[in-house]
Amino acid sequence: MTDTTSAAIVVEDATEEAVLAVAAASEAWARTSAAERARVIHVIADALDAAADDLIAIAEEESRLPQPRLTGELKRTTFQLRLFADVAQEGAYLDARIDRPAADWPMGAPRPDLRRMLVPIGPVLVFSASNFPFAFSVAGGDTAAALAAGNAVLVKAHSGHPRLSDATAAEIAAAVRAAGGPADLLRVIHGTDNGVAALRHPAIKAASFTGSIPGGRALFDIANGRTEPIPFYGELGSVNPAFVAPSASRRRAAEIAEGYLASLTGSQGQLCTKPGVLFVPEGSPILDELSAKPVPGPAPMLNERIQAGFVDALQALRAHKGVDVLRDSEWSLADPPEITLLCTTIDEVLAAPDALITEVFGPAGLVVTYTDAASLPGVARALNGQLTATIVADDGAEDDVDVARRLVPILTEKAGRLLWNQWPTGVSVTYAQQHGGPYPATTSPGTTAVGTASITRFVRPVAYQNFPDALLPDPLRDANPLGVPQRIDG
Ligand code: NAP
Repeated sequence: MTDTTSAAIVVEDATEEAVLAVAAASEAWARTSAAERARVIHVIADALDAAADDLIAIAEEESRLPQPRLTGELKRTTFQLRLFADVAQEGAYLDARIDRPAADWPMGAPRPDLRRMLVPIGPVLVFSASNFPFAFSVAGGDTAAALAAGNAVLVKAHSGHPRLSDATAAEIAAAVRAAGGPADLLRVIHGTDNGVAALRHPAIKAASFTGSIPGGRALFDIANGRTEPIPFYGELGSVNPAFVAPSASRRRAAEIAEGYLASLTGSQGQLCTKPGVLFVPEGSPILDELSAKPVPGPAPMLNERIQAGFVDALQALRAHKGVDVLRDSEWSLADPPEITLLCTTIDEVLAAPDALITEVFGPAGLVVTYTDAASLPGVARALNGQLTATIVADDGAEDDVDVARRLVPILTEKAGRLLWNQWPTGVSVTYAQQHGGPYPATTSPGTTAVGTASITRFVRPVAYQNFPDALLPDPLRDANPLGVPQRIDG
């Protein structure tokens, strides 16, 4: 046993060994060229694709998610690995800046030769998510970003899929060995206490997390309370409000209800971007459509903890005096559950926003009716930070456009991604994607957990002043041997 922190947490030998092994691998990986790193990451992605049948079979057993969903998720995961590897190799993310010496720099003193770029931050601890056993787990987005940026990764496996976590790690280890990458480039640990101990370990230089608000907040506080605080990128909770403007509500009620129900019930409502709250005009035909449209039957939740959390959160919301049931069934609170739709009014929400605008992780939504669209900006201002906010409106209808004009500046302050006439689930992995938002959506509103911009969570800037060319990193040299984008003299 080794005491490694100011808080005198005792680290299990196995965790200590894993942290130190990953730290050694991280040093070797950071020294490897971007092209070499990209080659190894491609080999990892190929190996995971080749092992798809075995991995998906374990994932089905442990996560209770259906096979087609898992097949698509693994495809997204290996695409993501390759995309991030290629983006890192291209080098724009390094943000290489070269200021050549300038004797007449208008600041009033000569400008020295200054060259700045981003370098790997060091070993990254990833707390993987329960609801994406591939895409936000051992080989998921955080791992892809950290590896592409030049860091080794220690994954705290989610207790919901331990065997899949080990099987994925074993495939990665074999692929890295075959490709000649550093041993221990990725390791997995299990156990809540071991995750905390690893987070406190001085060798860990950054951490990421996807899960609940209480869990993420507890770990964020630990990361910040260390003798050496480290960046902690937590993606926590969001209700993802959707606002339906009056004209769209009249003209497209059936289509809007159908789209909303599909987004709400996808993956049994166990998505962080589920549109949990829908604002519609009082008396809107959408209400009838929502009550009558066919919905998927009961399906098992990811694990017992999430099932129990869903029932508790739904019961608390149902018990609120201003909340009525719009749609439920005898299986609404059963295991497995069927969809529940609750409804309330905008006045009730404004009177108790924290009690009513709350994440219910599972197949449930809250419909909020308004009598005057002029009240929507006020309720938007009362919202906490969100991953997404959606506007459903007709661009040809002046009253809808007017509602949108007033909502957009407020929602821009509240959410990381704004949608127009589309639903927020199904987060595409692209260059421009933004999956984040002000707290409690995340603990780090300046970053994204999805898309290639997520790579820059796991780097830090270094400037070299007055260095000889031969001692500069390649991306900052005048000859630019790697051909990375350089910003020269501004
Ligand atoms: P969770 O309970 O927050 O757990 C996520 C990870 O953090 C797990 O590895 C867990 O370890 C660890 N952890 C949680 N609290 C901790 C603490 N106080 N100290 C140390 N480690 C801690 O999330 P979950 O099990 O995936 O789901 C629970 C709820 O989270 C859901 O009902 C939902 O509300 C929310 N959720 C949100 C998202 C999202 O995308 N934002 C995704 C999934 C879930 P153990 O596994 O060892 O307990």
